[in-house]
Amino acid sequence: MKKAEALRQLAEEMETNVSLPLREANLVFGEGDINAKVLFIGEAPGQKEDELKRPFVGRSGQLLTKMIERIGWKRADVYITNIVKRRPPNNRDPLPEEIESYKPYLTRQIDIINPEVIVTLGRFSMNYFLPTAKISRDQGKVFRAGGWFVAPMFHPAAALRGTGVLKQFEECFKKLPAIIKKIEEVKAKGAKGEKEERPVPKADQEHLF
Ligand code: URA
Repeated sequence: MKKAEALRQLAEEMETNVSLPLREANLVFGEGDINAKVLFIGEAPGQKEDELKRPFVGRSGQLLTKMIERIGWKRADVYITNIVKRRPPNNRDPLPEEIESYKPYLTRQIDIINPEVIVTLGRFSMNYFLPTAKISRDQGKVFRAGGWFVAPMFHPAAALRGTGVLKQFEECFKKLPAIIKKIEEVKAKGAKGEKEERPVPKADQEHLF
């Protein structure tokens, strides 16, 4: 099956699954280049995202888009989604059971897109792949988790709250093209970079560089 069709089918399954939590909100499935090398994964949609049914279109999204463009990329060249695909009431943190409920769908979405690197935005998304990672210690590094290359970054909302975090967020973003190059080198060198497993969180995460 073609990627576009597989993603369309996945979105339809999510729409029709009445057992998924947060059904009172709109489904924000994700958007971008389905062949993207870089997959950004945030936490959950906010109000604007719920209204427009698009990920990262509010203030955080504007900063994310600005950073993408600053390194010479276009937003349309990457793929952007969230671990939880519907807005929690009053923008509260997603609950562990909500993350768990959406997990099979995110797993399939990642498998279909098959990105070179997953950039997690914020603590929730990072800990989905790297349960023991700490955002201030590990942002800017590259890990292997569940067979994927995972690069944790601060959430843009955190960057908007403080200049120190914003600076680190900007620095981290600037490294992305070099990170991709390095991953491609690792993959080219052989088996180490091959996909082995599905992106389920596991304890033995490996910090590569
Ligand atoms: N914050 C997120 O984590 N995701 C969005 O889509 C918007 C804001």
